[in-house]
Amino acid sequence: MERSRAVFLDRDGTLNVDLKYISDPNHIELYLGVIAGLRALQGAGFRLIVVTNQSGVARGYYTAADVDRLHAHLRGVLAPQGITLDAFYYCPHAPSDGCACRKPGTELLTRAAQEHALDLGRSFMIGNSRADMEAAHRVGVRGIYVRSPGFHLEPGEAVDDVAFAQAGSFREAAHRILETR
Ligand SMILES: [Zn+2]
Repeated sequence: MERSRAVFLDRDGTLNVDLKYISDPNHIELYLGVIAGLRALQGAGFRLIVVTNQSGVARGYYTAADVDRLHAHLRGVLAPQGITLDAFYYCPHAPSDGCACRKPGTELLTRAAQEHALDLGRSFMIGNSRADMEAAHRVGVRGIYVRSPGFHLEPGEAVDDVAFAQAGSFREAAHRILETR
């Protein structure tokens, strides 16, 4: 059986405006172009898999159930648009926990690859942080770094060494992937 291709999606700051430690579904505001971009990627046969660091759980800001509820909400928002998010993987740990799943750790990606029979070498990741690009790079996934509105890399921080490409918006990132196939 042929393995599937996926686009891994960072959540906060990539799909939705990053309001820091979001747990209230009402605070999810998708960036312009995300719906069109996701639809195009799905139409091209990519699985859509969200991979997100949610240290707010370890910090006690919200619970795992809150995260699940938020993800169910996100699914519900996108379903009427004809978009199916195939899966959500998140790291609930704090940076100091030293886990293997917090990006730039690779465990969320490798777990998804195993559970969804993904071909990582033919998959992509869209994210707005160096950690996203690093995690992708480590497992042979091509990372598209998206410069979200209001988001800037720290001075001295670059992604050129780990990102496959950069884009000015989510929609542009999606196009970049589609023209690479
Ligand atoms: Zn973790």
